[in-house]
Parts: sequence; C-alpha cells; structure tokens
Amino acid sequence: MTSAIDISAVFERMAIKPINPAWSTGRIEGDAAGEVAITSFSPVDGQEIAAVAALDEGAYDEVITQAQAAFLQWRNVPAPERGEMVRQFGEELRRHKQDLGALVSYEMGKSLQEGFGEVQEMIDICDFATGLSRQLYGFTMQSERPGHRMYEQWHPLGVVGIISAFNFPVAVWSWNAAIAWVCGNVCVWKPSEKTPLVAVACQRILARVLARNGLPEGISCLVQGGQPLGERLAGDHRVALISATGSTRMGKSVAATVAARLGKSILELGGNNAIIITKYADLDVALPAAVFGAVGTAGQRCTSTRRLIIHEDIYEAFKERLVKAYRQLRIGNPLDESNHVGPLIDKDAVANYMGAIARCKAEGGRFIIEGEVLSGQAYGSGCYVRPCIAEVSADYAIVKTETFAPILYVMKYRTMDEAIHIQNSVPQGLSSAIMTLNIREAEQFLSAAGSDCGIANVNIGTSGAEIGGAFGGEKETGGGRESGSDAWKAYMRRQTNTINYSDKLPLAQGIKFDL
Ligand code: NAD
Repeated sequence: MTSAIDISAVFERMAIKPINPAWSTGRIEGDAAGEVAITSFSPVDGQEIAAVAALDEGAYDEVITQAQAAFLQWRNVPAPERGEMVRQFGEELRRHKQDLGALVSYEMGKSLQEGFGEVQEMIDICDFATGLSRQLYGFTMQSERPGHRMYEQWHPLGVVGIISAFNFPVAVWSWNAAIAWVCGNVCVWKPSEKTPLVAVACQRILARVLARNGLPEGISCLVQGGQPLGERLAGDHRVALISATGSTRMGKSVAATVAARLGKSILELGGNNAIIITKYADLDVALPAAVFGAVGTAGQRCTSTRRLIIHEDIYEAFKERLVKAYRQLRIGNPLDESNHVGPLIDKDAVANYMGAIARCKAEGGRFIIEGEVLSGQAYGSGCYVRPCIAEVSADYAIVKTETFAPILYVMKYRTMDEAIHIQNSVPQGLSSAIMTLNIREAEQFLSAAGSDCGIANVNIGTSGAEIGGAFGGEKETGGGRESGSDAWKAYMRRQTNTINYSDKLPLAQGIKFDL
C-alpha cells in the first residue's frame, strides 16, 4: 500500500480539473470566471487541492429556475424509469469507486477503507432506490359511503434542497438524492464548504448519466458556498423540502427559517452516542465496538461513540483493556492502511478538541489516556490529534455536549435503570447501544422505557448504519429520517382520493342535504 494517491491521475480519470478557479459550479460550468473560489485543503498533508467556484446571487437564481423547469419534465417520467436513471448512476459509481473513495479520503481525511465504504453506501442506496421506484405504495381504504372508492397516492414535492456536512461528504447527499429522484423530485445540493471537490466529482459522474439518457441536468444541481448560501436555500419558498445534515446549531437555524415559510424539513443533526456495557457483556465484542466507535473517522461521525456507561463490577477490568487498546493505535496518513486514526478536518476542529479537553479537566475529568496535538513531519497539516479517554461524572456539561473529535468519556453505573437514565440524560438522541448477553437487559433497553434514540443496537456499537433502515435521531438530533424503510414518504406529498361511481351523492357522517 502506498502512503499517498496520485491525485492528478484521479482527476484525469474522473474528468475533473485541479487548481482552477473557473472550473466548476457543477451545472453552470463556464459561468464561474471571476466568482469567489472556495479552496479545498486536504487535512491529510495540508495541501491545497483545488479551488472551486462559489455561486453568486444571480447564478443561484438561474440554478433554481433550471431545477424548476427540469421538475416539470421529471415528474412525468414513470417512477420505474426514474429508477433506471438511478440504477445507471449506481453502475457509474461502481466504476469510479476506487477513485471517488480515494478522493473522499484525501479531501476529508478519513481512512481509505472508509472512503471506499462511503462510495459503497452510495451504490447501495442507488440499488435500494431502484427497487423502491416500483414500490411507492399508497393504501386503499374502505369508504363509509355506498358506490365510493377511497385511496391515497403519493406525488413528488418539487425542488428538494440538500445541505450536507463535511464528515460524510458524498454519502449523505446520495441517501437523500437517490430517494428524492425516484420519488420524482429534482435536487439542489449545497455540500460542505470544507469538501467542495468530491461534490464536483459526483456531479460530473451524474451529469454523464443524465446526458446519456437525454435528461436535463437540472434534475441534479450543485451550488457551492458557505453558511450564507445554506441560509438562502433554507429561506427559498421555491424549495419544497430542505434536508439538512450538520450541527444542531445549524439545524435550529434551518428549522426556524423553513418553518417561517411553512416549508418541509428533514433535520439530521448532532449525536452524543453511548454504549452501555453490562456485567453480562461479551467483552471481546464490546472492546472493538467501543474503540472503533470512538476513534473511527477520528471521532467525526455523527454516530461516533462518545460515552461508555460501564457496570461497576467490570469497570476496572474493561478500563484496563481499553487503555491497552488505545496504546496500540497508530495515528497518521489515512491513505496508509496500516494506520487506525487519521486527521481532524481542520485546525478549528483541533482547537475545539483542545477546548473540550480543558473544559473536561476544569469540571473534574481525569484523563486515563491524555490528548495532544501531534507534531513532526508526518503530522505537518497540524490536524492530527491523539484519541483520549477521560473518567467523568455523567452530569458534566462537557459530557452533554457533542465535540466532533476522538474524546471518549467513561463512567460507572450500578443498576440498569441508572444506566438507561444516564444514556438518555443528554440533549441529543441519535445512536445508542447495549452490550449484554442477558435478554432481560436487552429488552429493557429496547422497550418504551429504554433508549430514547432513533437508533438502538444490541451487541454492536453506535457507529455506522445500514442503508436499509430509516436513519436519524430524536431530540436535538432533529427528528428527521432518511435512507431506508419508509423514509421516502418525507420526499413526497400524500393525496387522499375519493371517487363516487354511484348516481347518488351521499354525504359523509350521514349528513342529509336535500334540495
Ligand atoms: P455544520 O453545521 O458546520 O455545517 C453543515 C452544513 O450546513 C454545511 O454545508 C454548512 O455550510 C451549512 N450551514 C451552516 N450553518 C448554516 C445555516 N445557518 N443555515 C444553512 N446552512 C448552514 O456541520 P459540519 O461541521 O459540517 O458537520 C458536523 C456536524 O454534522 C456534527 O454535529 C455531526 O453530528 C452532524 N452530522 C449529523 C448527521 C446525521 O445524520 N445526524 C450526519 C453527519 C453529520
């Protein structure tokens, strides 16, 4: 395994051009000259990879107009044919999996395996959406009136705005877009300003599929910019649904803006995920689940494990194994597959990590593995930190806060009720897990009086999810659901239809109205 990728070759194969401020806003290519460029830096080596043109106000309006025009055409394409377009996109992604995965790793800083895994998730959701395109079912209901039939059907919404975060820079878009497309919507994607390049790569791949099928590129639009552009999209009444993934701070702002215009939103926000490790746990399963959950993607997953709630009888023994495992972690270039932990996204994230450690210490936290910013040639970008572990009390303010970094808080419990209370005592409600071979404990954790999260697992960790289930969380995680199960319903409008095939006009509820 080489420790770096040939980025020029990747660009060449994917037909994207590096270091050129005038090359992409995606769909309106060529109009970008003179616009402000977003610079893409790799946290892997601190290199400037590319400059991507940001949108100005006029160009934004043109994009939305083209999306609206494309919708008029796309909504009339039969859903299984829309599924066929998505199937072809999935095939293109299979072809480009290595290159796109490597680019994700290089621009975002996650491991190469996780970069490939992210593209695999995109392929999986395309497969799922292709099948779904023949299964957008509505119910039929029994009418109380004779000679009447009643049913419901689902229609597309229109333009769907997708605001995505840096940590899953392409998969989150595809979870939304693939489902939205088969539902008959068109999408406008505003990726994170920290990962603009992978978004361009996706747009290029999709544009080729659309062109081959004689479809307008407005079905998938890309707008590049920062927070102000996200705010503009959220406030735009022409955008029927906003699906926003990011921090709770961002979600509160988007929720208020969209609600003020009575639009629809799907919010996928921060998590503060815990694993309860009971005295009946298989510790050989619990240990890798906890370590991968806490340090994978350098703690920058919304589902990263941030808290371990450990039964007092096994606390010391498990802590010892945990510390030993952390001492073996190799931190370095994520493109080198022998490393376990890559960099944080940027120096702001490093400052947040250091700030959280200081706050934890000020509240009384005791670090059993100390955190630090790593220096030296291998860590030249300044974004590499050591994953750390602190023994804490569950009620510290910092423990209730999501810090997007590899800081793991460990704490003790005595009874299951206490463990569940601690698990639920944070404002966020995304992912949760219990490690136990005791069926009573597992069922209590999954019961109505158990975990209050959108995801509750038994004997697997908090981190990662399969696309087949509905993904999302409660409380400050925002309440939205994306991806599998019946999450597609949020991308469509439900219509109830009643048809009278009799020669009478009976009114509902037996009301008489004789003329
Ligand atoms: P962020 O909130 O800083 O930015 C996310 C996106 O929102 C970016 O595209 C940004 O430009 C945009 N944005 C920021 N403020 C906005 C505003 N006021 N109005 C409209 N758009 C705005 O988040 P980040 O640092 O990129 O990502 C990390 C966060 O995302 C973490 O909190 C993580 O838990 C969360 N996340 C959640 C999920 C989930 O599915 N629940 C998935 C991935 C990431």
